[in-house]
Amino acid sequence: MKRYSAFAVAREALRNQTGWERAWRKAHPKKAYDVIIVGAGGHGLATAYYLGKNFGITNVAVLEKGWLGGGNTGRNTTIIRSNYLQDPSAAIYEKARSLYETLSQDLNYNIMFSPRGVMMLAQTEHEVRGYQRTAHANNLQGVETTFISPSEVKRLCPIIELNGPRYPVLGALWQSRAGTARHDAVAWGYARACSDMGMDIIQQCEVTAVRREGGRVKGVTTTKGEIDCDKLGLVVAGHSGVLAEMAGFRLPIESVALQALVSEPIKPCMDVVVMANTVHGYMSQSDKGEMVIGGGADGYNNYTQRGSFHHAEETVRALVETFPMISRLKMLRWWGGIVDMTGDRSPILSKTPLEGCFINCGWGTGGFKAIPGSGWGMAELIAKGYSPLTAEFGLNRFREGRFIDESVAAGVAH
Ligand SMILES: Cc1cc2nc3c(=O)[nH]c(=O)nc-3n(C[C@H](O)[C@H](O)[C@H](O)COP(=O)(O)OP(=O)(O)OC[C@H]3O[C@@H](n4cnc5c(N)ncnc54)[C@H](O)[C@@H]3O)c2cc1C
Repeated sequence: MKRYSAFAVAREALRNQTGWERAWRKAHPKKAYDVIIVGAGGHGLATAYYLGKNFGITNVAVLEKGWLGGGNTGRNTTIIRSNYLQDPSAAIYEKARSLYETLSQDLNYNIMFSPRGVMMLAQTEHEVRGYQRTAHANNLQGVETTFISPSEVKRLCPIIELNGPRYPVLGALWQSRAGTARHDAVAWGYARACSDMGMDIIQQCEVTAVRREGGRVKGVTTTKGEIDCDKLGLVVAGHSGVLAEMAGFRLPIESVALQALVSEPIKPCMDVVVMANTVHGYMSQSDKGEMVIGGGADGYNNYTQRGSFHHAEETVRALVETFPMISRLKMLRWWGGIVDMTGDRSPILSKTPLEGCFINCGWGTGGFKAIPGSGWGMAELIAKGYSPLTAEFGLNRFREGRFIDESVAAGVAH
């Protein structure tokens, strides 16, 4: 693979852009692989990448029923932060955040990581106490966050109204090295690096059955034929329940549509990410100038990937309280993604009752930020059978009652 560099850009300018290669090869399924990953979202691709990079396992296929990054990875609002409450969460989310810091260099692909700072507003006394507690926990975990005053909130984000009609801003949990990245680029960068290692990324290839033999995985049936494998990783977010059923086990997961919307582009007015969980809305400004706005999840389980008027209305109404200036903005488009929610709002990275079959799911409304850390841990779990990063996130925790309760950090947040 030719490296992207300033020199390459100059060279191609001189030869009329004729020398660029495809970012990843168009691949057709082989008869068998050491590892098959189902789902070419960020988590599936990152798992494949770290299998190759950290463990030298490159006889790998990533199977995708649609197009690469076309699931939640290409539909989220790109917030990256690691200010979670519980120790296992802080470990995996902070691992991910720290990998994001150098991911563009590691992948030789500009993922546009922008550590612009994320603040989570405290708008009730309950939230003040909750976020102060999280800030203390984060300091013990080595995650840099602070609880900041309303005047500091206003200094960092002048367009905020501190004394809204319903909920005044009483402070915020602030993480200065949190931020955003370009979501498609994360998927594309991992895909390019996987393809360069010789892995096959096969799009338009839906897995329709998991083949088993004597309690062990044997392979999958797909719309492009049968493919054998020694190990199988299911990394399909909102479709995890469907794939688990094919593999013969059940998951404690609910799938719901989560929505987001963007405004018309405007001049730069906000260079931090703000989350207002009490009124329920959050906002950042993209490099193009659009205000990127996160909305709510549908109140009933479903598999749709669309926006709906009532969510757009509810979210914008909530945000107008916090940012009165957006009342004059036109909204351009809105959409939905199918998120996979667990009861304790923490993910599942686990072996399964089917030997050789692993599952990575349950990231719910907030898994974009975790992609590099999740891929790192999942690759170790698949390669070695154990990873310290994933150990607490096993399926057994639901049987044994060892929940990792992140309802404050992740219940409605992203
Ligand atoms: C509107 C919205 C806003 C969000 N905002 C944020 C945010 O700001 N920050 C954050 O951290 N997270 C956010 N998230 C959550 C985040 O997007 C997800 O947790 C994350 O992208 C999940 O990645 P994934 O790789 O597990 O899943 P996906 O990207 O959904 O990939 C799974 C893939 O599996 C494929 N697949 C499914 N079934 C099959 C099959 N049978 N055969 C083959 N392929 C199959 C799908 O087509 C899909 O491409 C948001 C999500 C949404 C929907």
